[in-house]
Amino acid sequence: LVRLRDRLARSGSPLGARLLAVLSRDHLTEDDWDELEETLLLADVGAGPAGELIDALRTRVRVQGVSDPAAVRTMLREELIALVDPTMDRTLHTDGAEPGTPGVVLVVGVNGTGKTTTVGKLARVLVAEGKAVVLGAADTFRAAAADQLQTWGSRVGVPTVRADRDGADPAAVAFDAVKQGKADGVDVVLVDTAGRLQNKAGLMDELGKITRVVTREAPLTEVLLVLDATTGQNGMQQARVFGEVAGVTGIVLTKLDGTAKGGIVVAVQRALGVPVKLVGLGEGPDDLAPFDAAQFVDGILG
Ligand code: GDP
Repeated sequence: LVRLRDRLARSGSPLGARLLAVLSRDHLTEDDWDELEETLLLADVGAGPAGELIDALRTRVRVQGVSDPAAVRTMLREELIALVDPTMDRTLHTDGAEPGTPGVVLVVGVNGTGKTTTVGKLARVLVAEGKAVVLGAADTFRAAAADQLQTWGSRVGVPTVRADRDGADPAAVAFDAVKQGKADGVDVVLVDTAGRLQNKAGLMDELGKITRVVTREAPLTEVLLVLDATTGQNGMQQARVFGEVAGVTGIVLTKLDGTAKGGIVVAVQRALGVPVKLVGLGEGPDDLAPFDAAQFVDGILG
């Protein structure tokens, strides 16, 4: 499994570099504090959390009378970890309630965010843990989407259940995938969904129906929302809609490799009240890592 800290540190985080450049100055002026806050805002941390962090850090620096850059850096690290929230439960739940029943993980999000890639990478992680997996291609609107998922399935060595025609009912495909998973006695069924967001009511209907038919056969153990870290406030808007309609239990933040927008972790967790559980760090099969607050911050600070 990829270690988040090492990978972020290796790709060289622009966010961390900017924060540390300011903190390396001997005496922090008013302008320096503004620059730190600005840096957090540019990284999409969000105005509220950025202000809170700067206030907390300034207070500590003043009360403890420190000016040594190394000491301030240590405090920044602690405050960043607190902001990312190390107390959230980031366990990925995949266990079906009883033997012979797979856990079902529904993967939702807007097209292009990295849903299909995430399903492929996640299948690989689960297989490496010794679990048997079936993929369900419930994005039935684009044949290419099912092809892409099937390619991932072959690569990882797991079967893919897909519709026999374009435009088939996504819920029927999800149902078939879970039925096949049960028949084959697999541990986890990963369901890739379509990410059309033109219409909130339509999305709610579609995801609601998938959820209903799936839970007739097996427990839905996770609904993972895939969010592209590079899309900033646009992505946040999408996240809120999915958060409202899909009963999201965890976030997968993709394309975190090399972006300066890592602060979106904080913003999206606050907006949805659910933890980031996994992060995407590239396009390859091994580029998925479990999320951890301290590793994330240490990776950013390099
Ligand atoms: P979907 O439409 O949501 O299923 O998105 P895809 O899985 O097809 O991914 C869209 C594009 O983003 C593809 O070119 C992927 O290779 C790329 N991608 C997905 N995840 C990551 C990631 O973590 N990092 C990078 N750099 N690219 C990614």
